[in-house]
Amino acid sequence: MSSKNVSPLFIFPEFRRFFNRSSISVTIQNYDNCTGCGICKDICPTVFAVDDDKVRILRQPTEEEREFVRLAKTTCPYDCIVVS
Ligand code: SF4
Repeated sequence: MSSKNVSPLFIFPEFRRFFNRSSISVTIQNYDNCTGCGICKDICPTVFAVDDDKVRILRQPTEEEREFVRLAKTTCPYDCIVVS
């Protein structure tokens, strides 16, 4: 195999994580309204965590997590999650 044919995504896994980022971003609004119920964390535990009865974003979602984040947004009982 020629080195010309090797994808940089194969050589540098960090590139894969970078390019695998979703075009959506998630933020929290109405932070004081969050009860820490954990529904969002149960739906997408790689993006949401709950500490001290408040939600925390661990990282921005990947493409594969996009629909889970959207589901968490629509399921949050206090409309705390913003997906843009
Ligand atoms: S679902 Fe909403 S209220 Fe519940 S922990 Fe997540 S952000 Fe907070």
